[in-house]
Amino acid sequence: MAHITLPREILPADGRFGCGPSKIRAEQLASLAGPGSVLMGTSHRQAPIKSLVGQVRAGLSDLLRLPEGYEIIAGNGGSTAFWDAAAFGLVDTRAQALVFGEFGGKFAAAAKTPWLEAPDVRKADAGSRVAAEPVEGVDVYAWPHNETSTGVSAPVERVAGDEGALTVIDATSAAGGINFSVSQCDVYYFAPQKNLGSDGGLWFAAVSPAAIERIERIAASGRYIPEFLSLKNALDNSRLNQTLNTPAVATLHLLDKQLEWINDNGGLGWASARTRESSSALYEWADSTAYATPFVADPAHRSPVVATIDFDDTVEAAAVAASLRSNGIVDTEPYRKLGRNQLRVATFVSIEPDDVRQLIRCIEYTVDALKG
Ligand SMILES: *Cc1c(COP(=O)(O)O)cnc(C)c1O
Repeated sequence: MAHITLPREILPADGRFGCGPSKIRAEQLASLAGPGSVLMGTSHRQAPIKSLVGQVRAGLSDLLRLPEGYEIIAGNGGSTAFWDAAAFGLVDTRAQALVFGEFGGKFAAAAKTPWLEAPDVRKADAGSRVAAEPVEGVDVYAWPHNETSTGVSAPVERVAGDEGALTVIDATSAAGGINFSVSQCDVYYFAPQKNLGSDGGLWFAAVSPAAIERIERIAASGRYIPEFLSLKNALDNSRLNQTLNTPAVATLHLLDKQLEWINDNGGLGWASARTRESSSALYEWADSTAYATPFVADPAHRSPVVATIDFDDTVEAAAVAASLRSNGIVDTEPYRKLGRNQLRVATFVSIEPDDVRQLIRCIEYTVDALKG
């Protein structure tokens, strides 16, 4: 295949469209080398890093408009570590897990343990979604706010189940890019390498008073919980603005800058309008283009932060993604296990809507050139 060189005037200013790790704005990276550099390589047990952790917790509280009694807790290991921490320290006897893609599936797998009853797993085909249903004996209802593998988002709405049942939301690719009300759930957890424009390695969670009560009760119950995965441990350390073991300081600094940027611009309402503008450009383009279709059939299920676009068999999506990559436009490949003739484009808050419109021109140019 001959190399396709995209004309300069249609190139986006920034070619990062991946779903994680995702675009980190130049201003954040510059501040890491500038004012942030005095923090790098210093002790996480001293005041400067503790105050950075405190600032991140305060920034997240502002962003999520935390109601009275909710707290921000943090730990190491990213969202994947949180799944196991939740199985040890949040699920009392049984979870209901909604699975409409890879990430929901991973929580369901983590909730299958020797000390819990088998989870009640509700599945929907990739590209659609399923809703939670109250079931007696279920004490945690869990699903992703945004299923990154398929580009489906689901509302955050408390389940009217048994008294005391918790609603637990994986917000890894949603946090900071989709408006919602945190009072509609008990745990809203995420890692910061997506909309929150930072690097991987840490997890954060907004926890309600009911979730805190659950964490403390299970921790005192005598159940075996490894120290690294103990939410009680994370709660106690977070209140002191620290983590059990050494956190990634650069991740904290980049996150702090992103929170400042989003909050100063108008918070979640502003971020939501911006991601909606970018994703709508892609969905409208796909709807009006003969060879392209939004993968998610129901417009109400389409993610505002991860757009998945199917191609018909006149276009080989993998060739389009490879050609874009050779022009510096990276990570438009679909989720590897989904196995579709598709492009997946992150429209996270850091990504300029104008860059998304340029990307569309680049896709059209590439498809035309490939068709010859
Ligand atoms: C990326 C992602 C994860 C995994 O995050 P890690 O920090 O790599 O563990 C989990 N859930 C969702 C919805 C994601 O998008």
